[in-house]
Amino acid sequence: MPELPEVETVRRGLNKLITNRKITAIEVRYPGIIVGPVTDFKNQLIGRQLLDVGRRAKYLLFHFDHDLTMISHLRMEGKYQVRSSLGDFDKHVHVIFTLDDGQYLGYRDVRKFGKMQVVPTDAVLKTKSIAALGPEPLTPEFTPAALAAGLKRRKKNIKATLLDQHVVSGLGNIYVDEVLWMAQINPNEPANNLSEKQLAALYPAINEEIATAIKAGGTTIRSYVDAMGHKGKFQLSLKVYDQEGKPCVRCGQQIQKIKVAGRGTHFCPQCQVLNQ
Ligand SMILES: [Zn+2]
Repeated sequence: MPELPEVETVRRGLNKLITNRKITAIEVRYPGIIVGPVTDFKNQLIGRQLLDVGRRAKYLLFHFDHDLTMISHLRMEGKYQVRSSLGDFDKHVHVIFTLDDGQYLGYRDVRKFGKMQVVPTDAVLKTKSIAALGPEPLTPEFTPAALAAGLKRRKKNIKATLLDQHVVSGLGNIYVDEVLWMAQINPNEPANNLSEKQLAALYPAINEEIATAIKAGGTTIRSYVDAMGHKGKFQLSLKVYDQEGKPCVRCGQQIQKIKVAGRGTHFCPQCQVLNQ
């Protein structure tokens, strides 16, 4: 699944490749990706010029002239490809934008869970899915106090709480496992039962993890590749995710894989014990 660092890498790649391009045609091969009528989607975007690609958590925001924004949620498997020929797109490419320089922007999504929606630019932050998002790592809104206050109000386990995007946005399965290992927190620990020491360790762990991952261009767990076809390098530094059976680099105990919040979860049974 693309996580915040991957989406940020895609955003930067798209800005280099297609900023200032005008959309001259749109082909929608699978209408389920589009929120609302496909004809409205096309009418709103054809002829528009792309000003820049922004991001909120794991949503890409394509800002166009005429104060229109296309919100794109990649969900499980979505990715963008910029190509010079329609023949370069396979059967999993469901939406194709023709650009005025002869290139094509294709949206590829094997599982078809992604969504695209056009809204007035000033309504983006009020859109239901985006309004519900908590503060993002590495921003002024994400403070130790905000994190502590958010977790205090939640009784479900810390893994589910960090995944649900309300207390902090942008962390997916891989990075939640990694930050819980760094802060020595058991994934099944109730969110409102963290010790002071764990809370103090969790905040910088989240910021560090996201900063490091963005710098490395995201992970290549599964099939993530950025808009230019480059693979991320972050998988080299994963401490617990996908490390089942390997020794913990902190204590030597074998990393275990269990199910928490319905997701495969990796942790060290010796470094990450439940609090009393
Ligand atoms: Zn350990």
